[in-house]
Amino acid sequence: MNQPAPELDRAVKEIADELRVRTDRGEVASYIPELAKVDPSAFALVVVDTAGNVAAAGDADTLFSIQSISKVFTLTLAIGKVGNRLWQRVGREPSGSPFNSIIQLEFEKGIPRNPFINAGAIAVTDVILSGHQPREALGEILRFVRFLADDSSIAIDKAVAASEQRTGFRNAALANYMKSFGVIENPVEHTLGVYFHHCAIAMTCRQLAMAGRYLAQFGSNPTTGLSVVHPERARRINALMLTCGHYDGSGEFAYRVGLPGKSGVGGGILAVAPGKASIAVWSPGLDASGNSRLGQIALEQLSKRLGWSIFGA
Ligand code: GLU
Repeated sequence: MNQPAPELDRAVKEIADELRVRTDRGEVASYIPELAKVDPSAFALVVVDTAGNVAAAGDADTLFSIQSISKVFTLTLAIGKVGNRLWQRVGREPSGSPFNSIIQLEFEKGIPRNPFINAGAIAVTDVILSGHQPREALGEILRFVRFLADDSSIAIDKAVAASEQRTGFRNAALANYMKSFGVIENPVEHTLGVYFHHCAIAMTCRQLAMAGRYLAQFGSNPTTGLSVVHPERARRINALMLTCGHYDGSGEFAYRVGLPGKSGVGGGILAVAPGKASIAVWSPGLDASGNSRLGQIALEQLSKRLGWSIFGA
């Protein structure tokens, strides 16, 4: 059941009011130097339900770096492009490893565990890139995100992309390693360039919650009724978000929140209550697994309060 809008508004406001003043925020990501400049006290929570109601609190209109949340959108595009052939290049199992781990790649002959760890997302980016120039592939990704959010102002933060390009040695290692197994088709520097740039897309929580509506609405845009992906694909992307969306914190997120979700090291999380709502939260401080600390608490409280866990109230 959708919650009546006043109840949703109240829940979002009260949770945001409580969390905005908390000081146990975790650490802002600093391995991408540009991300370390963000204000650690920022907090935003936005819910867009499938009836079109929007409940927003905090810094809902402040841009932040969506980082790995972009991997939900690139996965959607890549499945649309090559269908089930995608699964020859990347697996569908939780990794239980940190987001930038290289260990499993050797055991598993260059096939990344899932599309949301860095190696898997780089392989997915390579699928989108094949047959295109990097600029075209990036344009396609950006157009898709703008279409999903219904907002043509969404853009890439070039300073963040350049900062990661200068310091992304581990991602370069992952990409080169996969290339040696033939999992990457394009020149490694092209694939990495597109990857760094789509991770550097800047969005507000309001835009992000709008962009996630198709996952809450069985593959279609609830406002226009237009299909984005087949319902079966939306269901499967949600399944991957639930099992793999928070790196080695995915089990904990499912246990506490009970919703499909994808986090990014910029401190954002996109979560989906299937049939009910798309939710975006942002607080830049991260826990040890690289997931927004207060973001997870906000989602845990919201899901509990509204009875939205997919596992029951
Ligand atoms: N661009 C970041 C990286 O590849 C994304 C990591 C993340 O958000 O988890 O390291």
